[in-house]
Amino acid sequence: VCPETQAEIDQFMKSFRKLDLHFKIIGKTGEGTFSSVYKAIDLRYDRYVNDWDLDERTAEYHSPRSKRQRLSHGKEKKAKYVAIKKIYVTSSPQRIHNELELLKDLTGSKNVVSLITAFRHMDQVIAVMPYFRHVDFRDYFRKLDIPEIQLYMRSLFTALKFVHAKGVLHRDIKPTNFLYDCSKGRGVLVDFGLAERESDDGTCCCLGTAEISRRDLKNHSPLLGGYPKNDQRPSKRANRAGTRGFRAPEVLFKCNAQTTKIDIWSAGVILLTFLSKRFPFFNSPDDIDAIIEMATVFGRAKMRICAALHGATFETAIPTITEKGHSLGRIVEWATARGKDNPLHPEEKTALQFLEATLELNHQRRLSADQALRHPFLAQIVP
Ligand code: ADP
Ligand code: MG
Repeated sequence: VCPETQAEIDQFMKSFRKLDLHFKIIGKTGEGTFSSVYKAIDLRYDRYVNDWDLDERTAEYHSPRSKRQRLSHGKEKKAKYVAIKKIYVTSSPQRIHNELELLKDLTGSKNVVSLITAFRHMDQVIAVMPYFRHVDFRDYFRKLDIPEIQLYMRSLFTALKFVHAKGVLHRDIKPTNFLYDCSKGRGVLVDFGLAERESDDGTCCCLGTAEISRRDLKNHSPLLGGYPKNDQRPSKRANRAGTRGFRAPEVLFKCNAQTTKIDIWSAGVILLTFLSKRFPFFNSPDDIDAIIEMATVFGRAKMRICAALHGATFETAIPTITEKGHSLGRIVEWATARGKDNPLHPEEKTALQFLEATLELNHQRRLSADQALRHPFLAQIVP
C-alpha cells in the first residue's frame, strides 16, 4: 500500500467509530464515481487471522495464541476477505438506500455479489461484501480466445438472468462492474448504485409499436417539413444513468419505458470489445455524439427506425454515415485487420451472430438474458 493510500485508510478507520473491531483493511481495491472500495480481513470470521484474539464481549484484543494451539482447535484458518464499499457522503440517502436494498434482495446467485452487512456512522455508510479476486479488464480483453469469451459471457448472462428475473435493471453493465477471474472462468456482477426496479408506469410510443416500417416513417416523421423554429414542445426527459459507450439506443433516444434489455445491449458492447480488441469501443462524451457513433456502425436507415420507435427523429448530414451502415462482422474484420489469409473462424461467426442478437437496435427484438443463455454461442458452455 502506498503512503497516500495508507493515510487515506488510516483516516477512514479513525473517522468510522469501532470499524477496527470488525475489520482490518489491507488495501484499496477500487475507486468508482460514487465510492472507494477497500480490501479487508473480517476479524470476526476468523479471530486468528490477525494473530490477535478479539474478545466479543469486551470488544478488546488479546495477545496471540500459539500456532500449535490454534491448529489444535481444528478450525479453518483461511482468511475471510471482504470488500468494504465506502459510499461517498455526497450520494443522496435515497441512492444509498436503493443500492443496499437491491443488494439485499439479490442474494442467491454465485454470479451476483451479495451483501454481508452494512454500517452507518454519522453520514458515512459502508457496505460489506465478500471480496472477489479479479483481473483488470485491460490486462486480458485482447488475450481471450473464443472459448474463454464464451465462459465470460456465460457468467455475465447468468448474472443478468438472475437480476432480471427479480425485475431489476442494473443500468451500468461494463467491465469494471463485472469482476472476472480468468483462472476460474467465473465473474461476479457488482455495483447496484444505479440499479432500479423495472416499472410499468413509464410511457413511450414503443409500448404500442412492435415494428416501424419505412412507410410508417414517411407518414409520421414530424420533421418532414424541416426542423421547427422556436420549438415549444417540452423537452423529453428520461433516466439516462449509465456509463458513456454502454448506453442502449433507447436510453439515448430518451425512452421512458426502459426495460431490462438495456443491460443486454451493454453486455453486447463488452462482447464487441472482445471481438474487435478495442476498448473502449464507443467513447462519446455526450448522448448526441453517442447516437452519431452508433449511426456510423448501423447506418441511417436503422437509426431512423429506432428513433421513430421512441417518438424521436434521426437525421444527419454527416457524409461518413452511410444509409445502410456496416455489418458487425465487417467492423470486427476491420478492427482486427482480417484479410483473405486470416479470415474469421467458424466459431467467431457464431460469436458474431450472438453479437448481432444482443446489439439489436430494437429492444423488443433484442435477446433476453434467458434467450441468450440458450443461444448456440452459450448453450453448450459448461462453466
Ligand atoms: P462504484 O459505484 O463507485 O463504481 P463499485 O461497486 O463498482 O463502485 O466498486 C468499484 C470497484 O471496486 C470495482 O470496479 C472493483 O474494482 C472494486 N470492487 C467492488 N466490489 C468488489 C468486491 N466485492 N471484490 C473485489 N473488488 C471489488
Ligand atoms: Mg462501478
